Amino acid sequence: MELYSGYINKLVDELAALPGIGSKSAQRLAFHLINMPQDKVERLAKVMTEAKANVRYCSQCYTLTDSDICPICAKSNRNKRMIMVVENTRDLAAYEKTQKYEGVYHVLHGAISPMIGIGPGDIKIKELVERCAGDVDEVILATNSSLEGETTAMYISKLIKPMGIKVTRIASGVPVGGDLEYIDEVTLSRALDGRLEM
Ligand code: ZN
Repeated sequence: MELYSGYINKLVDELAALPGIGSKSAQRLAFHLINMPQDKVERLAKVMTEAKANVRYCSQCYTLTDSDICPICAKSNRNKRMIMVVENTRDLAAYEKTQKYEGVYHVLHGAISPMIGIGPGDIKIKELVERCAGDVDEVILATNSSLEGETTAMYISKLIKPMGIKVTRIASGVPVGGDLEYIDEVTLSRALDGRLEM
């Protein structure tokens, strides 16, 4: 026996496929959406479609942006010879909030994770190596301190160091396995100041 209408079932299935949403949350969200005014649901659907259609990778640092070059890469006062490597755009935002970093970024969009089949070719490592062929003094590896983040940092270090570029790793103090976006700005600033050469 079908407990809900077919439309609700479909909505619950789609919502449950999103990260961090279990079947209970998916049901709660589905009923919430059904009870929302029609115009609000339409606005939500529209902003989702618009975001998907218009957000792209910055052609330099690969962060998510609305234009060809993101606002950070477009700024003339950022030090283009210093590149901080982060796993995702949320981590970039966390470092930007500290207002202590004057270099530019490189967003990998993930970390190497053999467990779930993510290899070096699945994230933006090749693109980083290409950038490093230009004038770069230092690459700061600010991947998470999880196993995947450490593996990724080691992998990149082995590729970049032979190019004669200084490679540093953000200091511990960032809790092990911690998602960077949840760490406060003071801790992030300290991790950046205390970075060590690899
Ligand atoms: Zn950029």
